[in-house]
Amino acid sequence: MEQYKQEKNMDMLGTSRLSLGEGKHLIDRLEREHGLANPEMAALIESNCPELRDYARVKARGIADRQYGKGIFIRGLIEFTNYCKNDCYYCGIRCGNAKAKRYRLSTEEVMACCREGERLGFRTFVLQGGEDPYYTDERMVELIRRIRAAHPECAITLSIGERERESYERFWEAGADRYLLRHETASESHYRKLHPHNLSLERRMQCLKNLKEIGFQTGCGFMVGSPGQTARQLAEDFAFIRKLHPEMVGIGPFIPHHDTPFANEARGGLELTLYLLSLLRIQQPDLLLPATTALATIHPRGREMGIEAGANVVMPNLSPSDVRDKYSLYDGKVCTGDEAAECRECLERRIESVGYHVVVGRGDHRGHIRCGMTPATRTPMAFLN
Ligand code: SF4
Repeated sequence: MEQYKQEKNMDMLGTSRLSLGEGKHLIDRLEREHGLANPEMAALIESNCPELRDYARVKARGIADRQYGKGIFIRGLIEFTNYCKNDCYYCGIRCGNAKAKRYRLSTEEVMACCREGERLGFRTFVLQGGEDPYYTDERMVELIRRIRAAHPECAITLSIGERERESYERFWEAGADRYLLRHETASESHYRKLHPHNLSLERRMQCLKNLKEIGFQTGCGFMVGSPGQTARQLAEDFAFIRKLHPEMVGIGPFIPHHDTPFANEARGGLELTLYLLSLLRIQQPDLLLPATTALATIHPRGREMGIEAGANVVMPNLSPSDVRDKYSLYDGKVCTGDEAAECRECLERRIESVGYHVVVGRGDHRGHIRCGMTPATRTPMAFLN
């Protein structure tokens, strides 16, 4: 890991480390009560050490096995536009990065990715992009409808940022099933360190609430070790997740991008990320929890270690290989050169190496009814007041 001179596992403020016995006791309580008070969670996070990580990992993996068995869900990621109108300080495709080489896939290119994905056994397509004004609601609806018609057995996940509630409703009605929108941090002060002033945490939270209410299987998430992050703020993330009760949570280490204001910041730690994955699984046993590409980027066995820590989803890339290196959110991203078929085979080998197997199926959240193909058969779920 020569390229990473610095690794940050926590930037603590005022919490105290627990003894091993106290830490195990809190992990047991987290399992029983599915949540801890913020100071307790912060202390548990700050007490990250090999023994507690092992204790949490074994417990988390057992919980994941009981919830989802030995199957790992795969999602085919299609990064269809790297244009973005926002300027998040941590992101390589922020609008302020004039060096980013921009691209949009055509509808035909997206459809070709889906065809190849279905042939390879993918039954979920994740359409991910920056907040690209070119993709109006009309264009998104058209794209969703085409994928829905061509692949009626597949789930469609969107990851295209903040939109009005009406837009989300239109996407849902067009046939999208799931939506990923990382909240990045549940702390207002931390949010302000990561984003310019035209973006607001309140709006992001409202978007997540809207998505849940409409009926999307909803994913939030955050970077581990992002600049200025403390254990107390991570505890706020856990509290927020407890309240939102999302179907998915995506976390991965913060990795700096050389053309951003955070170019010289330390990256997030591998061990802390794995520990938090385990704590998330223990807090909310039914989560769909990805072992992220960022985790694989900071360690050659990152995905496998993520699965061992309690993850049950992987999201390899189905985008055409000639655009993959342009979707550069952070430096050193792995798997930018492989064809989809190579990725799929490599992933299968990796998953089998830790005693698990790839599931060919939609991989819906276990508490969620299978959504069906028409909006009329779906049951919106209301959460949060
Ligand atoms: S994090 Fe998302 S919204 Fe922010 S600049 Fe990057 S792509 Fe755009």
